[in-house]
Amino acid sequence: MKFNTQLIHGGISSDVTTGAVSVPIYMASTFKQTKIGQAKYEYSRSGNPTREAVEKLIAQLENGDAGFAFASGSAAISTVFTLFSSGDHIIVGNDVYGGTFRLIDNVLKRMGLTFTVVDTRDLSAVQAAINDHTVAIYFETPTNPLLRITDINAITTIAKQHHLLSIVDNTFASPYIQKPLNLGADIVIHSASKYLGGHSDLIAGLVVTKTATISQKIGYLQNAIGAILAPQESWLLQRGIKTLGLRMQAHQNNAQSIFNYLKQRPEVAHIYYPGNPEHADYALAKQQMVGFGAMIAFELQPGYDAEAFVENLQLITLAESLGALESLIEIPAKMTHGAIPRAIRLENGIRDELIRLSVGVEDSSDLLADLTHAFDQII
Ligand SMILES: *Cc1c(COP(=O)(O)O)cnc(C)c1O
Repeated sequence: MKFNTQLIHGGISSDVTTGAVSVPIYMASTFKQTKIGQAKYEYSRSGNPTREAVEKLIAQLENGDAGFAFASGSAAISTVFTLFSSGDHIIVGNDVYGGTFRLIDNVLKRMGLTFTVVDTRDLSAVQAAINDHTVAIYFETPTNPLLRITDINAITTIAKQHHLLSIVDNTFASPYIQKPLNLGADIVIHSASKYLGGHSDLIAGLVVTKTATISQKIGYLQNAIGAILAPQESWLLQRGIKTLGLRMQAHQNNAQSIFNYLKQRPEVAHIYYPGNPEHADYALAKQQMVGFGAMIAFELQPGYDAEAFVENLQLITLAESLGALESLIEIPAKMTHGAIPRAIRLENGIRDELIRLSVGVEDSSDLLADLTHAFDQII
């Protein structure tokens, strides 16, 4: 089955008992056992048919051994980090999700894990960060908000040489655009609250594992910790995933149109978009991804007020989050990345006036008209 067919028919896509073409929402906490220990499902924390359907589906979409659904992306990330023990050292990409840094700095360090933060585009810096206690490399690509691209294959090759796990947060790309497990990663994580859910109506997280050994460990932790996705949410997520292909095509087409438009605007000083031939990582993005995604960040020329610009938009919604049908815009320094100290933000290249746009699937002419209107008002 090809990818767009898998989205609809992959995993468990229908109900064997009734023939319903959509998997029912099994609202049950426990299941009858015909004999002690003889039951397909025992208790819904350990396994639920609706959750299992979406877990099987994501495993297939990411070409992994098994999938696991969690109550949020953050729950998925937290559970994966419990693979490690006090004293273990993990290398982390310098541009990962703010909530991941919060978890690392305020929770995981307290439990004795140690971390080195590096720019994972710099392979020698990654090599140099490895020590005797290193157990894993954790990164995102494309990153947020500057859409930097890490060479997944190069990093997983280094990880294998040193017997480290490689873990990729694939939220910004989705499996439509890139499949890290095919490029050597051991574990893929998603905030399914973004492109996979796709409709701004769901908080969910997913983990996909490459080998049965890791699947067994994550399955154990999922049940032990219990931060599982509930049946209603599992159903909603599977429904969202069915249209991932259609949505990603529309998202990417619109992103390309908006990039072409922004390039012409004299008020725009710099555009961060992997499909920008002037983007530092353009060649790698072209090689590693199918399309360039639909996230664009840009800076206005000095003297233009970025906050006034985003507040002047009428259709494009001023909000955090991304990967939704509706276009969402924000100022990372004031919103998603506001918790990072300014000096560190600036060091990472996130300027105060940087604007991040998650391009939705509206008619592109309406989006361009909205941008034009907002530009006209700041002149
Ligand atoms: C949103 C996000 C998360 C956190 O996911 P939640 O579902 O909000 O808990 C993790 N990683 C990335 C890249 C994200 O964008």
